[in-house]
Amino acid sequence: MPDLLVIKSCFLSCLLVLLQTSSSQQDEQSQLLLVSFDGFRWDYVNRVPTPNFRALMDEGVQVEQVENTYITKTYPNHYTLVTGLHAETHGIVANEMYDPIHNLTFSMEGSEVYDAWWWEEAVPLWVTNQKAGRKSGAAMWPGSDVAIGGTYPTHYLSYNASMTFETRVEKLIDWFSGPEAINFGVLYWEEPDESGHNLGPESPLMDVVIADIDEKLGFLRGKLRTAGLYDKVNLIVTSDHGMTQLSHDKIIELDTYVSRDLYTWIDKSPVVGILPKEGKLEEVYNSLKNANPNMVVYKKEEIPDHYHYRHNVRIMPLIIEVKEGWTIMQNRNGSFMLGNHGYNNSLPSMHPLFVARGPAFRCDYTKASMRSVDLYPLMCSILGLKPLPNNGSLSSVQDLLVETSTPKPVVPPVPREPSCAWAVGSVLGAALVIGFLFIFVQQVTQRQHLPLHLSNSEITQPLL
Ligand code: AMP
Ligand code: ZN
Ligand code: ZN
Repeated sequence: MPDLLVIKSCFLSCLLVLLQTSSSQQDEQSQLLLVSFDGFRWDYVNRVPTPNFRALMDEGVQVEQVENTYITKTYPNHYTLVTGLHAETHGIVANEMYDPIHNLTFSMEGSEVYDAWWWEEAVPLWVTNQKAGRKSGAAMWPGSDVAIGGTYPTHYLSYNASMTFETRVEKLIDWFSGPEAINFGVLYWEEPDESGHNLGPESPLMDVVIADIDEKLGFLRGKLRTAGLYDKVNLIVTSDHGMTQLSHDKIIELDTYVSRDLYTWIDKSPVVGILPKEGKLEEVYNSLKNANPNMVVYKKEEIPDHYHYRHNVRIMPLIIEVKEGWTIMQNRNGSFMLGNHGYNNSLPSMHPLFVARGPAFRCDYTKASMRSVDLYPLMCSILGLKPLPNNGSLSSVQDLLVETSTPKPVVPPVPREPSCAWAVGSVLGAALVIGFLFIFVQQVTQRQHLPLHLSNSEITQPLL
């Protein structure tokens, strides 16, 4: 009997060690924080001293030109960053939309933002992360306070533009800490977009705004350090688009060319979605097509393939794209901004910043260009998640990561690289099986030498 107790306790303690090993392996999952400073143009970092952005570039990677997706607006591009899909595929085709099937409109300022079906042509990364048994945290990222496919991020904040950057960061740091830590977080901040619209990107007053964003990044770095997360969490800092300067002498007035009775305009400058009234498409199109050299009018089916902006019912039958720096209004009574974005995504002024650092990233490495759709497979690779079908390509951005020569297969929820804890677990597992077999054989051999009455009673005992 004592021998059997030894076997039992040996087996149980080995089991315990194995369980502990596998839970510490969970703890070693890659962690990733994706930060977006709305409207942070790629070259803003060169205007004023930005020591915190510079530090990230030195410690990690930067990409000089990131081609975002058409149209270069906030909602479409933020959803692209977390799905790897162009707007025509993920369905958030503009900040203001009309869905002819549901006969409903969407405005980023309206409550319909919370109607999940608008978002459900795609699955954002936080949902995929959670489906793989991990935890996500979201501080105000567009769509992150919506139950997409019935799932909220594990931790999230309802959108509140008045919540300070510092509070958002503190929430994320909490979520990244402790035994129930998230492994994926997203953080959104409204600036410098808002100031870029109000002041115009060329205003010297923007220098102060950019310096302030750098300080905010410094705050985030400091908090990560204090929490012991700085060298653990992979940090990506990017944006949805850039910004360009507007002027009062570059205004196109639609009323000059076509009567308002013939159409509804859905999304506004600089890419206007036009929904002609029943039977009026040709009339509206003919009125607009050669009306002004600073705009191009496309019938939906003529939108160039490389825009990736055609195959969705939420894209209107006609779109008008104006040249960089031009504003399109119905007449001059509307409100006028000094800066805007939404222009063609091939324009450098529309391109966002991209810097990243952390254990997954190379050090002091500059890459010339990437597409924002490539970020999704890159993040999946860091997180060890199998990407859903997407428009991006991991191989185009693999060079940003360490170990470019031997890419690891990504299958959730196994970590990207076999860890030390996993090796220890395997050795202990093998030892357990061998030890168990050894003791078992010993027992059987001993039993053959026992008196019959004892031997019978032991045979009736279960081994465990
Ligand atoms: P845009 O002009 O396309 O850059 O839109 C930027 C604006 O989008 C911000 O100034 C916010 O007012 C708004 N915004 C961003 N995220 C959200 C959100 N999750 N919910 C509602 N509005 C948002
Ligand atoms: Zn934006
Ligand atoms: Zn904006």
